[in-house]
Amino acid sequence: MTTRTVLVINSGSSSIKYQLVDPDSGQALASGLVERIGEETGAIIHKHGQDVTELAEPVADHGAGLSEVLRLFEEKGPTLAEAHVVAVGHRVVQGGKYFSGPVIIDDEVVSTIERLVPLGPLHNPAHLKGIEVGRALLADVPHVAVFDTAFFQDLPEEAARYALNREIADRYEIRRYGAHGTSHQFVSGEVRALLGREDLKQVVLHLGNGASASAVVGRHAVETSMGLTPLEGLVMGGRTGDIDPAAVFHLWRVAGLSIDEIDQLFNRASGMKGLTGDNDMREVWKRVDAGEQEARDAMDIYLHRLTKYVGAYAAVMGGLDALTFTAGIGENDARLRAELCQRLAFLGLEVDDALNGTRSDEARVVSPEGSRAAVLVVPTNEELAIARQALTLL
Ligand code: AMP
Repeated sequence: MTTRTVLVINSGSSSIKYQLVDPDSGQALASGLVERIGEETGAIIHKHGQDVTELAEPVADHGAGLSEVLRLFEEKGPTLAEAHVVAVGHRVVQGGKYFSGPVIIDDEVVSTIERLVPLGPLHNPAHLKGIEVGRALLADVPHVAVFDTAFFQDLPEEAARYALNREIADRYEIRRYGAHGTSHQFVSGEVRALLGREDLKQVVLHLGNGASASAVVGRHAVETSMGLTPLEGLVMGGRTGDIDPAAVFHLWRVAGLSIDEIDQLFNRASGMKGLTGDNDMREVWKRVDAGEQEARDAMDIYLHRLTKYVGAYAAVMGGLDALTFTAGIGENDARLRAELCQRLAFLGLEVDDALNGTRSDEARVVSPEGSRAAVLVVPTNEELAIARQALTLL
């Protein structure tokens, strides 16, 4: 019997993703997606248990989209009254230096998220639309913002500050904010629970289309690979990750590219996509197996970058007790996990081939018993993490 639920909303520029979560059991009671908002053809999919409703209809704006979602809840269930919704949780990518945890949304919080648009130009305006229509349509429950940057808010100064001119960096608020923090916080907490230890030195690899690494000591993040924006760090589906910023000057001066073209090139047309033409790891592996050298090279670049980060983070923490894989690639790509651990054997990391090769939706250890350091696979669940964080404020 459900006693309380949280409606979690992830509002994008032309989409609204939502999930109705029971924070106590961890179950999603319903979920869905509104797509192509503002375009000629929109689409809505609403799932309630086995019951899936798909609509193809234009959705004028975020307000119309959310109204349609609320209508589907009433018509297809579960009704929000019977689900006893106690809060709405909004995912917000960029919280800058202002939010170190979840906050109840009021007008002041809204204007701070607005002020942060220059640091999160792709995401924050879209979140603001979701927050605005959410507060209007679901006015009698508290709305909570959960920030992707919050977990990294207390990074040590030596990790957060770039060696950029101090006055300029401070004036323009340029520092390491990180991203995927809700996932890194959730997954590192699951690892502590699974291993039954609070004092772990761990590295979490969130490897999806976007990818990031974090170093976590006890409950605190001490390093993370994404920086001012989610461009820095690991090789990603379409993003370069680390690259000498002088490449920007070079492309501008020598190739004559505009700043917007370079932005597009680094954020969308690089990474695995730019190296191989494919951003899906399954396709790249197929091409490796077919003997394509370019695909093998791309995998090696991906693995080399990961090896550098895990090694560096072990050095920063003075040791490593656990390495954990999460997100689309991390949770599903056993071969990549095995190849990375082979490269990191000097840290005591290894996988048990049977454990690593077994598919499962459960959090699990995949290293052999008695290994010097544990290797784990933990499915991330950002919606559940947002729901649970929202509840801490009620
Ligand atoms: P995410 O951004 O977390 O949804 O992850 C999406 C990515 O996961 C896709 O681009 C794929 O590259 C990757 N992925 C999903 N399933 C697999 C799999 N079985 N093996 C390798 N990669 C996978």
